[in-house]
Amino acid sequence: MTSTKAYAAQSATEKLSSWTFERREPKPHDVEIEILFCGVCHSDLHTVRNEWGGTQYPCVPGHEIVGRVTGVGDHVKKFKTGDLAAIGCLVDSCRECDNCKEGLEQYCENGMVGTYNGQEKDGSGYTFGGYSKRIVAHEDFVLTISDKLPLEGIAPLLCAGITTYSPLRHWKVGKGDKVGVVGLGGLGHMGVKLAVSFGAEVTMLSHSPSKEKDAQRLGAHKFVLTSDKEQVKSVANYFDFILDTVSAEHDYNLYLNMLSTNGKMVCVGAPPTPAQVPAFNLIMKRRTLAGSLIGGIPETQEMLDYCAEHNIVSDVEVINIKDINEAYERMLKGDVRYRFVIDMATL
Ligand code: NAP
Ligand code: ZN
Ligand code: ZN
Repeated sequence: MTSTKAYAAQSATEKLSSWTFERREPKPHDVEIEILFCGVCHSDLHTVRNEWGGTQYPCVPGHEIVGRVTGVGDHVKKFKTGDLAAIGCLVDSCRECDNCKEGLEQYCENGMVGTYNGQEKDGSGYTFGGYSKRIVAHEDFVLTISDKLPLEGIAPLLCAGITTYSPLRHWKVGKGDKVGVVGLGGLGHMGVKLAVSFGAEVTMLSHSPSKEKDAQRLGAHKFVLTSDKEQVKSVANYFDFILDTVSAEHDYNLYLNMLSTNGKMVCVGAPPTPAQVPAFNLIMKRRTLAGSLIGGIPETQEMLDYCAEHNIVSDVEVINIKDINEAYERMLKGDVRYRFVIDMATL
């Protein structure tokens, strides 16, 4: 076991603070990574504060991890010491069910193991995430990354990137499609960049007037302020596809009514409170309301390679780990441009 420095929440109501725990030594197929940067996802905050229920404490969040390999087990083929490597939202799954065999490990029928707050398959306890100095995982769940792009900008691709890439690809969004992205935060800004790169016409649907200029800079073709009735009216029955990334309670019907006939709205944002959707908002225009969870390992690698080829990274504000609690408060206020990333050298 290796003593590992981290930041953890000790309960749902306490701030994150410094904590030390033991990581396992690499098993034959394991890779050990010194974490250099870790992105801050709104899911970290939902989990730390037990907003979805089921959080185990102490909780070490963080699932947008990039770093350098510091050790490998005897049977590891994909990595050697000194390589760059990354870990996203999953560190294990059963590998035997139909979903795992298809590379959809996030939908593992026997339960995927999340990078934090996940139950280890060997019964050794629950997992601790990337707000820590090092991590050990099976090589099948470790991704390769480019050495040409800034590492801090790559980190958020591991969750915000894949969570928006996967539904855009699954629903074949591309040239000729009118796409709306709801919420300009970590996921939303990646959704805009990726949908634009796939050739779609992209509209930012935001409740923050101050974000209009940034939306344009990120590549959005239009901006709709969702608190302005006239602007909302101008996009009634307009979109082929809407990606909803909002983290807090909101009215889904406002956006469903922006879908054209056969339009699809995909929820990736996961507010803790349930939404109310009258069936008629779907029936009358044969609209689809769907959801999507992160992405599987093969698709995550595909997304990382795609972003490397197209020079796509996240817009980040690098923070010192001691400022993590303040970063959470700013994230809650929508004041993040557009992903906080922790410089792990500050731990
Ligand atoms: P984030 O950076 O905090 O962004 C959320 C954005 O939602 C905000 O920037 C804001 O954008 C908008 N928003 C916030 N409160 C709102 C309100 N009351 N009404 C309307 N819009 C509001 O969060 P994130 O890291 O992108 O995560 C977003 C959500 O996705 C979280 O719930 C997270 O848990 C979830 N998530 C899901 C998956 C998955 O696999 N499905 C993966 C990762 C994260 P504007 O200011 O532009 O309106
Ligand atoms: Zn996440
Ligand atoms: Zn499985």
